[in-house]
Amino acid sequence: MGSYKIAVLPGDGIGPEVVAEAVKVLSIVGKKFHHSFDLRYADFGGAAIDSSGVPFPPATQEVCMSSDAVLFGAVGGPKWDTLDPAIRPEKGLLALRKAAGAFANLRPAKLFSELADACYLRPDIVANGIDILVVRELIGDVYFGEPSGIEVRDGERVGFSNMIYAEHEIRRVAEVAFETAMKRGKRLCSVDKANVLAVSRLWREVVTEVAKGYPEVELSHMYVDNAAMQLVRNPAAFDVIVTGNLFGDILSDEAAAITGSIGMLPSASVGGANTPGLYEPVHGSAPDIAGQNLANPVATILSLAMLLRYSLNLSAEADAVEAAVAAVLAKGYRTGDIYRDGMKRVGCTEMGQLICDAV
Ligand code: ATP
Ligand code: MG
Repeated sequence: MGSYKIAVLPGDGIGPEVVAEAVKVLSIVGKKFHHSFDLRYADFGGAAIDSSGVPFPPATQEVCMSSDAVLFGAVGGPKWDTLDPAIRPEKGLLALRKAAGAFANLRPAKLFSELADACYLRPDIVANGIDILVVRELIGDVYFGEPSGIEVRDGERVGFSNMIYAEHEIRRVAEVAFETAMKRGKRLCSVDKANVLAVSRLWREVVTEVAKGYPEVELSHMYVDNAAMQLVRNPAAFDVIVTGNLFGDILSDEAAAITGSIGMLPSASVGGANTPGLYEPVHGSAPDIAGQNLANPVATILSLAMLLRYSLNLSAEADAVEAAVAAVLAKGYRTGDIYRDGMKRVGCTEMGQLICDAV
């Protein structure tokens, strides 16, 4: 029996809908396992811009940093797209990750056997199973590299962004990836573009150096274009993938897509010393389906399972949540994004309730 502080940031779009279902599941877990969860709600993203003018207000930062873990939904939407880029909702997400020092984003892409029929790939490829973990560097790369901007040169506008990595940034994320690989299939594929990018040549060098400390892990290197292709041709070839922020953004969405639905995929952002882990679904705020009870809450509920496992060390509780998700899928319940003929179509709140009941 324990007592935990969880910061809850519902955010925008479908964020509040899917977070509400995860919170329902958390309260059932609390009752069943006799834990007390102190839920500390705070505004974030577009919701925070509306209430206080900035996407990650100091009050929200304080709530997050004094909590054991942070659970959040998604940020952004058309309402805020015309704002100055410096105060867009997405900037709040980058600032939160930076504040938490969360430099490693763990994105499992696992195909539930119940959803094999929803997978886009040929059955003979799917038969080998898909169970990949993408470790994406999260607080460096071209998203943060300065200088960046748009300026006029020789009478025309020129846009530039700087892809930059320091040795220590590569080393620490590589270490997380090797540690993770040790707990899984002991195969690590490092993805870069070393044939054309200087920054990637350094990436490859540093990852190769880190590998010396992990002789049991089989390390391979792959160019990002080839990795994008191999993910759809032979996903079973991958166990753990480690890559930079930009390539990881793209490859983890691709890995998401081949497992059937982006609505199924959780993520964890970890790494900071004495700072909370951040847990969020891989998907965005999905403004196209927001407010219609159509969103799949499973990605957020599985993110909650990762939170229980990694930040609170509650593995039996995490197992119970994951087993409940599998049980509900096995009974044929599906939200629209994973619906197939003959299945039972449910909305976001019904899916959440079914998972609660199964826990
Ligand atoms: P972001 O830039 O925040 O990552 P995005 O533009 O990449 O956002 P998402 O918000 O992830 O896009 O949505 C992409 C598509 O997937 C949309 O059509 C959306 O409706 C769908 N989608 C995303 N999340 C879910 C979910 N939980 N359940 C069902 N469909 C979803
Ligand atoms: Mg996206």
